[in-house]
Order: sequence, then C-alpha cells, then structure tokens
Amino acid sequence: MQYQAWFQCINGCPGRYSPYEVIYACPECGALLEVAHDVEALRSRSAAGWMKLLDERVRCNQWPYGSGVWGKKEWVLPDIDDRNIVSMYEGHTNLFWAERLGRELGLEDLWVKLCGNSHTGSFKDLGMTVLVSAVRQMIANGRPVRAVACASTGDTSAALAAYCAAAGIPSIVFLPRARVSTAQLIQPLANGAIVLSLDTDFDGCMAIVREVTRDNTIYLANSMNSLRIEGQKTVGIEIVQQFDWEVPDWIVIPVGNLGNVTALGKGLLLMRELGLISRLPRILCAQSERANPFYLAYQTGFRTYRPVEARKTLASAIQIGNPVSYQRAVRVLQQFDGAVEQVTEDELAEACARADLTGMYTCPHTGVALAALFKFVERGIIGRHERVVVISTAHGLKFTDAKLGYHAGHLEGVTARHANPPIELPADADAVRKALDRALAQRERQQREVL
Ligand SMILES: *Cc1c(COP(=O)(O)O)cnc(C)c1O
Ligand SMILES: [Zn+2]
Repeated sequence: MQYQAWFQCINGCPGRYSPYEVIYACPECGALLEVAHDVEALRSRSAAGWMKLLDERVRCNQWPYGSGVWGKKEWVLPDIDDRNIVSMYEGHTNLFWAERLGRELGLEDLWVKLCGNSHTGSFKDLGMTVLVSAVRQMIANGRPVRAVACASTGDTSAALAAYCAAAGIPSIVFLPRARVSTAQLIQPLANGAIVLSLDTDFDGCMAIVREVTRDNTIYLANSMNSLRIEGQKTVGIEIVQQFDWEVPDWIVIPVGNLGNVTALGKGLLLMRELGLISRLPRILCAQSERANPFYLAYQTGFRTYRPVEARKTLASAIQIGNPVSYQRAVRVLQQFDGAVEQVTEDELAEACARADLTGMYTCPHTGVALAALFKFVERGIIGRHERVVVISTAHGLKFTDAKLGYHAGHLEGVTARHANPPIELPADADAVRKALDRALAQRERQQREVL
C-alpha cells in the first residue's frame, strides 16, 4: 500500500507541497502549514490491524521501527527512505503509576509520562528525529541545505544539535543569554553546533532566526515547521497504546510555544479517524503566570489574543510571550473540551518538591503541570476516580540549578517548605547519632501529618 503525506495550509487554502520542500507558511495567506495524510489509504488497514502492527514494533530491533516515532512511520512520514532516517531510539518512554503522590492528592489513577527519559532529556527528540530525517532526505534529493537552525529556550537546541551531529549536518542554535540552564548550554556545545548566545529573550531570538533563514539555504527547525509536530504527535498515541488502547480521562501538559499540545491533539484525532479510539481525553494546559498569553486568551473564551512580554520563570523552557502555534492550539482545546490554568513560581516549586518527595525528579515545567493539576483536583473539576496522565516534558537533571536553589532556600518568590539541605557535621560519631535522631524524628512527624 502506498501511503502519502504532504504540507497544506491550516486555513484550508488549496495548495499541496512536498515535505521535502523548504516551505514553512502558506504562500496564499501566510498561515502555518500542517502535514496532512491520506487517511483513506490508512483506513485500508483495520483498527485492529494497526494495533497489532504497532504493538509488534515496540522496541524491536528492525530499523527504524523500534523507535516510538518510526514504529508509526506510516502515520508520520510514510514515504521517507529508511536510509535517511536519523533516529536515536526515541519514544517508548515510561508511563508509571504515581501511586504515592496520587494518594496524597486523593487521586486513585494518577500517571506520569516521563518524556524526559530520552536521548537529549526532553520530548523535543520526538519531533527532531522527523525534522532532521526530512532534511537528510532533502539533501539526498539534491536540495542545497547548508545547515539547520533554531531559536530555543534550551531543549530544542539540544535535540537539534544531537540529531544533526548524528547525521553529519551542521546546526546553528540561537539561545537567549543567561536564560537557559547549564546543561542546556553545554549540550549543543558538546555536539559541535554553532551556538549564538544573544542579548535578548526567546521571542527576540525567534525574530532573528526567521531573518537568517529567509534565503532557504539554512533550514528552520522551530515548531512552525510542522515536521516536528508529526513526531511529537506520537506521545498521545503512545500513552493510549501503553494503556492497552484505552483513553485516559485527562492529560495535563505544560505549554509555551503551543507546538506540543497541538501535536498531542493531532495524534489522538488521527487515532479516532482510524477507529482505534472512540472518545477523546480532556486536556489541561498549564502555564507559568509569568508567561501566560494562552491562559489570558482562554479567560476571554479565546475571543481575544494578545502576546505578552514573558518574564523570568524557573520554567525557562516555557518562558514564551508570543506562541507560534496559538491558532492550532486553540482548535485542539476546543475539540478536547480543554482548559488552561496558570501557576506561580511558589506553586510550581512546591509541586516539584512534593513530587520529588514521592520518588520523582521533576523539571520545573513538570512542576507547572502538577501545580495546575493540584488546583483542578482541589476545585473538584478532576475527580478521584478519573484516570489522569501528567506529561513530564524534560529530565530533572537538566535543571539542577533550579533544584539547588530550592533546597538552599535561594529562589526569589518561593518559600521552600520542603527544603532539604545537607547536614554538615564534624567526623564524630556522637554528633552524627544526634543529628540522625533529630532528622528521623522529623521524618516520622511528617509521615504522620500526611496520613
Ligand atoms: C519545549 C518545552 C515545553 C513546551 O512545549 P511547547 O511546544 O513550546 O508548548 C515544555 N517543557 C519543556 C521541558 C520543553 O522543552
Ligand atoms: Zn493559506
């Protein structure tokens, strides 16, 4: 069976463009493009047939199907030559029952999808494997692409640099100076990217990268580029697959540029079109109140939208004031009976600390999602028996600075109620015994308070 995918305008203008053309916006109306699939052709395989095929491929060693993205190749980029795929076995991240945290909140069925357990430590790998593979196909087709570039709040650049290095394609990353974590800065440096650290914020970097990629020999890797959405859309598909093809009631996701929630929706809608699922989950988007344009628009019923100037937040990957995928994300929320909540620095840091005390190691963005979840549970909007999945977007180890700051009690605007600094002592057994007695007594008090 021949499956096909192409770029088309999100506003329905008639043109179709090859995914291997250098094009990011509709030539008619200037809106973003999306990748469309020949759904009729995909329907020639039954829903049960797709489930069987996708299950057989999970973590298999037959190139490239063991990847969580390329195991769904027919739904992602069906006609790419396997030899041009650049994959580092992304996807199939763990989805675990957060039993203890759930119990503390009064939720019986709380799950965390750990997208940060991936090659470069964030979900951005899911999209980047598709984009860089497409670039390799373009080069094989004879297109003069010299490099791939992106503006980034830290994780996109890490993923771009790694996948480009794996493919031997030069990469260029634009970072807002002093606004990304140490790990996020060192990742593209180590992978040999050209790293430009600019005296501006993410939105400022975005404006420059758009200028620089105008001549089409440097390919633009930001999420207005819909190839990344095709890879990222596998996260929702994978969640449903991990529940043996059952749909959860809620998915909670931290949002900035709004590409990931667009992708989440797109994957689930495709599954419904193909008959693998019959209902949709509700989606709760979480923002920092310091970078909250989507929340503000939601408050107006999406009647008005205004970009904001994003202020410094611990959730640095979502410090974005003018999200590029706004329009696409609104459509998703409308179809998924979605909601948007915002949280303060104190709330997100507290949520991280509480989750970490139940064995997780959360990044600040996951903290934003958890804090929004806490509010929805408190208000009774999310009920005790509902199945909830929190998308954890990055690995906590990329954000050591934020965690150190919390446990040292140094974070501005945050009361560190669960700070756990190291106990410094002389090498003396008596002093150690006394300190241990105090520390254990305190732990026992805390246990009783929770129960
Ligand atoms: C990119 C990113 C997000 C936000 O995703 P968008 O597509 O920009 O909405 C959230 N968390 C982390 C860790 C990220 O890297
Ligand atoms: Zn158009």
